[in-house]
Amino acid sequence: MEKRISGTTGLFTLLGTPVGHSGSPAMYNFSFQKQGLDYAYMAFDVKKEQMPQAIDALRLFKVRGSNVTMPCKSVAATLVDELSPAAKIIGAINVIVNDNGKLTGHITDGIGFVRNLKENGVEVAGKKLVVIGAGGAATALQVQSALDGAKAISIFNQDDEFYANAEKTQAKIKEAKPEVEVNVYPLADQAKLKSEIDSADILVNATIVGMKPLDGQSLVDPAFLRQDLVVADTVYNPLKTKLIEDAESLGCTVAPGKGMLLWQGAAAYTLFTGKDMPTDEYQAYEA
Ligand code: NAD
Repeated sequence: MEKRISGTTGLFTLLGTPVGHSGSPAMYNFSFQKQGLDYAYMAFDVKKEQMPQAIDALRLFKVRGSNVTMPCKSVAATLVDELSPAAKIIGAINVIVNDNGKLTGHITDGIGFVRNLKENGVEVAGKKLVVIGAGGAATALQVQSALDGAKAISIFNQDDEFYANAEKTQAKIKEAKPEVEVNVYPLADQAKLKSEIDSADILVNATIVGMKPLDGQSLVDPAFLRQDLVVADTVYNPLKTKLIEDAESLGCTVAPGKGMLLWQGAAAYTLFTGKDMPTDEYQAYEA
C-alpha cells in the first residue's frame, strides 16, 4: 500500500448509506492496480441531508469522481453542474465525474442492464419489453431501453407508492422518445400480464421479489413463459432467482442481475478513467 498511495494519487469515492457492505472499493481498487492507474477508491457513509457538504468536498478535494448510492441518488442529481441525457430524464444519478471542477452526473444502471443483455446475445433495439417494477432500477432500465431503441415497454406494478412513478416514467419517455410505445398496467391484472408477455421479446423482473428475504418467490406464473422469451432480473442476491430458474428450465435465454451490477460498475469505470474495466480478471479474482 505504501507503494500504491502517493502524494499524487487521485481519489474516487462512494457516497451513500449504508456503504460498508459495498463491493465497489474492492472492484475499482483491483482494476486501478491491474491497469497501473494512480487512483484510489474509498467509501464514505453520507446521509441524504449531508449530500450538499459531500458534493462541496468533492470539489474542494478535487476528487476525480464518485459513485452515489441509496438514498442519495436523487438529491445528488440536483447538486451537480450537468446531467447525462438519461440522468436528466430519470432525475437520479449513481456516478459523478469531476472534469476540472465541473461535475457531471450520470446513471449507469440502465446501461448495465442493456450491456448485460448484449453479453447474453440480446439487443434491446426494436424489441418489446415487459418490465415488472417501477422503482429505481426499473425506471433506469426502462429509460435506457427507450433511449437505446426499444419498440415498446409495458410496465406492470402492484398498487403501491411506486405505481405513480411508472406513469411518470411513461410521460417522460413519451416526451423524450415519442416513437416508443409505453403502457402501464396494474400487476393484479394477470390476464393482461399474460397477453403482454405473449407479444413481448424480453421479460424483466425489476422488483425486490426474488431478493432475500423474498427469495424462492416469483411474480410470474411459469405457465406465462415460453422458450423464445428472454428473461432478465435485476435481483443479484441470490445469483439465480426463482424467475431465472423457471426460465432456465424452459430453455429461455436469461440475464440475471449480477451481470447488470458488473456492467453498471464497468460503465462507471469507463466514465472515470476512459478505459475498459478488466472485468474478466476481476471476475476470476472474485471467484
Ligand atoms: P425500489 O425500492 O426502488 O423499488 C421496489 C420495487 O419493487 C417497486 O416497483 C415495488 O412496487 C416493487 N415491490 C416491492 N414489494 C413487492 C411485492 N411484494 N410484490 C410486487 N412488487 C413489489 O428498489 P430498486 O432499487 O429498484 O431495487 C429493485 C431490485 O433491483 C433490488 O433487488 C435491487 O437489489 C436490484 N438492483 C439491482 C441492480 C443491478 O445492478 N443488478 C441495480 C439496482 C437495483
